[in-house]
Amino acid sequence: MQKIVALCKRRGFIYPGSEIYGGLGGTWDYGPLGSLLKKNLKDLWWKEMVQFRDDIVGMDAAIMMNPRAWEASGHVEAFTDPLVECKICHQRFRADKEQEIKEHETSHKGEKVEWTEPMNFNLLVKAYLGVLEGKQSEIYLRGEITNGVHVNFKNVLDSTRVRIPFGIAQIGKAFRNEITPGNFTFRSREFEQMEVQFYIKPDESEGKKWFDYWKQNRMDWYLSLGIKKENLRFRDHAETERAHYARAATDIEYNAPFGWSEFMGIHHRGDWDLSRHQKYSGQDLSYRDPETNEEYIPWDIETSAGVDRSALFLLIDAYSEENGRVVLKLHPKLAPYKVAVFPLLANKPELVEKAGKIYEDLKQDYQVSWDARGNIGKRYAAQDEAGTPYCVTVDFDSLKDNTVTIRDRDSAKQERIKSSEIRNFLKGKLS
Ligand code: ATP
Repeated sequence: MQKIVALCKRRGFIYPGSEIYGGLGGTWDYGPLGSLLKKNLKDLWWKEMVQFRDDIVGMDAAIMMNPRAWEASGHVEAFTDPLVECKICHQRFRADKEQEIKEHETSHKGEKVEWTEPMNFNLLVKAYLGVLEGKQSEIYLRGEITNGVHVNFKNVLDSTRVRIPFGIAQIGKAFRNEITPGNFTFRSREFEQMEVQFYIKPDESEGKKWFDYWKQNRMDWYLSLGIKKENLRFRDHAETERAHYARAATDIEYNAPFGWSEFMGIHHRGDWDLSRHQKYSGQDLSYRDPETNEEYIPWDIETSAGVDRSALFLLIDAYSEENGRVVLKLHPKLAPYKVAVFPLLANKPELVEKAGKIYEDLKQDYQVSWDARGNIGKRYAAQDEAGTPYCVTVDFDSLKDNTVTIRDRDSAKQERIKSSEIRNFLKGKLS
């Protein structure tokens, strides 16, 4: 982990939040490369979930919501009891539930479980809205992005042509007063989530079918991003572990340097959210099947992933050291820069000019890095650490025959191609 944290700082992936003021625990700032990595990840997710599908639409709800929404979802109530937290897995228990605490201790088989002091947790981050002191209203920054989708269930139904089964996708920031933020960005106080709430008919076999579908769909997606198969696994939640309304829950876990850890969750939430919002808002949130006229509150299968956790696990999985060089073997689709362009020598204007033209041209379609400093070996090493999959070098032969060398990050092999072929080459590799 130390190596990953150092690489992230050195290359501009992730910095500690507000570092020059001594930091702010549990917050992280994404630098030039980190913000590109996150953007690529979110774009790929959105494409897969919204653009490529006919049964999912997107939305982008406000971070600040009417506080009643958090009462309805159970967050206000659930997070104000005195709780103790297991320092190993961060699960929290009501301090007065001695039996549950004892049972939990045995679940860590032989490991000594330490607990935090009982505290009145409020996981929701409070904020104050309004300009007049004393007349401000207390609100919460959203603790998860889910609620903004459920409260718009009716709006989406009325303004689009979706029919059950269908999903609503959303990406956005969430805030939690985590008492033990840690393991770099793994547990932060401000983080981003990408979620789909998939609404289905309230029927046991439909529920099972879609729950299993989303489990496999999400696992396949992470594999398609190049994460090593042996580093991913499902962990089904035991009945005792699940929220009382959850009909089934599974985590996809990653084999992190700090142990197998939750990557994302797939949750069968039944009709809990819509029923509660119907009750608390007094609005009818039922669905009428246009063909059978059947009316019901749909069930919801949720897939919820952290953007930051995904980015972290992708970085960890891609990190490799080969003959003393660090190579970040990110999938080309995720790599911050798709290609770097170099003139072999910075003091030869004809090389700089030709390379500059290629750089300007590729920039129209790709995020391209330019480097003319130092020797070529150092430039390759810097791009390897940044995860750039291809490096194009313009040398003296290029001036004669319009060819360039293109170097592959993972094999370190170079081939010569016509400069007019660079675009086709990249297209083939990146699609
Ligand atoms: P954990 O058990 O690790 O606290 P959780 O079960 O509370 O997570 P959910 O509420 O299901 O998490 O949130 C869905 C996803 O959001 C998680 O799988 C994770 O990827 C991400 N996430 C949740 N809390 C954090 C956090 N504090 N920092 C970064 N990502 C988070």
